[in-house]
Amino acid sequence: MPCFTRSNPRPFWWRLAVGIVAILCGLATLSGAAPPAYMSLHVYFVDVEGGQATLFVSPSGQSLLIDTGWPGNNGRDADRIVAAAKKAGLNKIDYVLITHFHTDHVGGAPQLAERIPVGTFIDHGENRESTDEPTVQGWKAYQQLLASGKYKHLVVKAGDTLPIRDLRATIISSDGTLIANPLPGAGQQNPACKNAEQFPADKTENARSVGLLIAFGRLRILDLGDLTKDKEMELMCPVNKLGKVDIYIVSHHGWNQSSSRALVDGIAPRVSIMDNGAKKGGSPSTWEIVSKSPGLEDIWQLHFSDEGGPTHNPPAEFIANLDGPDAGNYLELNAQASGSFEVYNSRTQKTKRYSALTTPR
Ligand SMILES: [Zn+2]
Repeated sequence: MPCFTRSNPRPFWWRLAVGIVAILCGLATLSGAAPPAYMSLHVYFVDVEGGQATLFVSPSGQSLLIDTGWPGNNGRDADRIVAAAKKAGLNKIDYVLITHFHTDHVGGAPQLAERIPVGTFIDHGENRESTDEPTVQGWKAYQQLLASGKYKHLVVKAGDTLPIRDLRATIISSDGTLIANPLPGAGQQNPACKNAEQFPADKTENARSVGLLIAFGRLRILDLGDLTKDKEMELMCPVNKLGKVDIYIVSHHGWNQSSSRALVDGIAPRVSIMDNGAKKGGSPSTWEIVSKSPGLEDIWQLHFSDEGGPTHNPPAEFIANLDGPDAGNYLELNAQASGSFEVYNSRTQKTKRYSALTTPR
């Protein structure tokens, strides 16, 4: 029986039956209208002490981990990633994207794979830095993992999109190649290019980083791995190929080889989240550029930066790990498709909310 009521007269038994169905349908509609457990995008910024490990969990429960932290330390970084996955209710990580083959990004992959099932590994292809021994070791261990035949493997190029439900994840850079054309809605002249400093070509794996722009409804998040300033200039000058973003995952842990003014002023993030360690990343000059970029509301950091000192760090409430014994505190971003979001600091157990902007940026 369909869910509607009729106005024409019917016998009592008919009206009673319709009434019961209407009540049942109403209850069903009400329960259907209640938000499922996962209406939002959850992003966990796992503390891997100056490497990267960022876990995206889409509203339908699909997961993308960007990088796996360091090797060694009895699986410290893999354990922290698995703890975040458990918090998100995952028993498997669908996609693990390795931005590049430096050991603070790919190093934790074998330990992670021992602890939790992984569906597909994604990367830029070959290691291009064969002169650096730790990089070669990390690459070899990763190749052994792929050779086990247990995982799907996807090599991506700029312009590809990842097959993740609910998100639009566009590859911006891969293996040194960048998107040829501006993203939809982008392509404006970038005023920050005027008199901008030029940077020498980086010869390391950093410049090969897989970078992504992840869109969820109206929200845009940029993660360029450790992409260096020379590549940023190609992306942002003379026209801004990326457009503006809501959240900038500060490249390269906030080290001064990345985050040129042309990039940061061009993307004009509302919030920046830096995956620095106490003694890795968090350069004062990067902090100056990010903190003074137009439209910035807050910088969040995984660690207090020793190099930044009292003048180049945000207030303590925006920092997951202060001085002292490392507790592995994390930051968590929860976002709605409307563009509103909040950031949770597991150390303070406090959340800051950011409303959706009323006018498009
Ligand atoms: Zn790195």
